Amino acid sequence: MSGVLLSNKISRRSFLKKTSAITSLASISPFSISSIVSDLSDDKRILVIGAGLAGLSCAYELDKAGYNVILIEARSRAGGRVRTYRDAFADNLYAEMGAEYVDSTDNLVHQYCKDFGLRVLPAKQYDGVFVRGNRLSMKGLKSGQDSLPYDGVLEGKLFGQEARYIQEWIDLVKQKGENSPEVLALDNMSIEEMLKKGGAPKDIIELYTYTNATESTTVPSRMSALYMVLANARASAFSEDTVEGRIFGGNDRLPKIFAKKLGTKIKYNRALKRLKFNSKGLTAIVNQNGANESIKGLKCVIALPASVLRNVDIEPGFSSDKTYCIQNQDYGHVMKVAMQYRKRFWDQKKSIGQRVFTDTSLRRIYHFSIDQPGPRGILLTFTSGEDAKKLGRLSEERRMRNAQKTCENIWPESSKYWENGITKYWNEDPWVKASYSIAGVGQKGFRDILAKPEGPIYFAGEHTAFYRASMNGAIESGLRAKSELIQALEA
Ligand SMILES: Cc1cc2nc3c(=O)[nH]c(=O)nc-3n(C[C@H](O)[C@H](O)[C@H](O)COP(=O)(O)OP(=O)(O)OC[C@H]3O[C@@H](n4cnc5c(N)ncnc54)[C@H](O)[C@@H]3O)c2cc1C
Repeated sequence: MSGVLLSNKISRRSFLKKTSAITSLASISPFSISSIVSDLSDDKRILVIGAGLAGLSCAYELDKAGYNVILIEARSRAGGRVRTYRDAFADNLYAEMGAEYVDSTDNLVHQYCKDFGLRVLPAKQYDGVFVRGNRLSMKGLKSGQDSLPYDGVLEGKLFGQEARYIQEWIDLVKQKGENSPEVLALDNMSIEEMLKKGGAPKDIIELYTYTNATESTTVPSRMSALYMVLANARASAFSEDTVEGRIFGGNDRLPKIFAKKLGTKIKYNRALKRLKFNSKGLTAIVNQNGANESIKGLKCVIALPASVLRNVDIEPGFSSDKTYCIQNQDYGHVMKVAMQYRKRFWDQKKSIGQRVFTDTSLRRIYHFSIDQPGPRGILLTFTSGEDAKKLGRLSEERRMRNAQKTCENIWPESSKYWENGITKYWNEDPWVKASYSIAGVGQKGFRDILAKPEGPIYFAGEHTAFYRASMNGAIESGLRAKSELIQALEA
């Protein structure tokens, strides 16, 4: 698990005691202003830091409402974890190496897509299953013709096998409500503990790791049981029938439109290193090509992942609660591998399918380029948790060899058509250092603390959203921060 600097070593209580003396992230990673090259001294301006969907939507709406806003971004592009690779492939093919699916309930993404003239097209559902070396079809599983080679599973489905073992807690939510103390107490139990308590065999815990590979990117012993129970109680858990969409032409079209509308108000290649604030305003020290620049503002929205914010110097520091949550927010591991083949062999008659659920280290392998013209095509994989971590330790060449080999086991003819491939391991990306936030054991209260304004500073980012770990959540957080800020300015 990335970036969990302190949680295993000291308790929350002793940490809070310690931080009352420290109060500043600066003391954890000291930074000296050695070379301030300019002082952009418009102290009435609103600074938004981080041009992912959270920062973009926030800055866009502030700008639209007539506020003087600039958006500061470390990279030379907008979009953050929405990342469509185009140059790596032939024939104008592209693949989503970051955020991919837009669910039907992602109303904010759908609304902006509509406003900006973008279409969301449905992806095809899982049709193949390759587990424990067995080749099964989703059709066969659903009809009961095929069975999963795992102890304790129900026939007729793949996803949601955990539900029957946690029924007593699902009922508890229904009887007492989501915010009752009895239900909230489930946050102190891990998913693994709850499944064991509910009588689930080891196989069910193992299967959960794979069926929830996209929602949960770490091991079940680190994830809050509350998350699993609520997902099942709300009937929002992923199933064979979940319809997921993707933005036609590439998800990066959405952040690119926000960026185009903001134009020169986005300042690229500037990494926030230090933020000083008091009741009157603030100064951001950003680094551009090794030189420091000082940018003044009245208020600021920080839309950075907690996994990078924990390395920014904050003066005089945030509250001890917020500091603790920034330092300890759990994140998972995710790697995607995109492979270009000269023929779409997965559509052939004897193929296991075009979207395969698997317990191999690749976890999900699917034809990505369904909306793009052939004959070439791209197989994309999504791997997470311990598998992503292990693959992440390998060189690019070895990661690719592993992916090719796994594909060969699933589609024996695949090697004949292989052309090239590329990987993206988010935990080694310097501007994320993680994949996306997860509900760790005991972290239920983190979201509110992470989202709460402090002085002239407001907070956005998927980890501060109700629907975390999603593009929709990122936008939800950006719009919330914008409203909080406007309310304060107009009070
Ligand atoms: C592999 C993967 C798959 C995913 N799949 C899906 C999916 O299918 N559906 C879905 O809805 N969501 C998915 N997500 C989640 C989604 O991508 C995120 O929730 C969302 O994009 C986060 O947006 P954000 O603005 O909060 O953060 P980010 O996109 O990370 O934006 C933060 C920005 O801050 C910048 N930055 C970082 N440090 C600094 C600094 N010091 N100074 C200035 N700028 C800085 C970064 O460069 C970045 O642009 C996926 C994510 C990953 C990684």
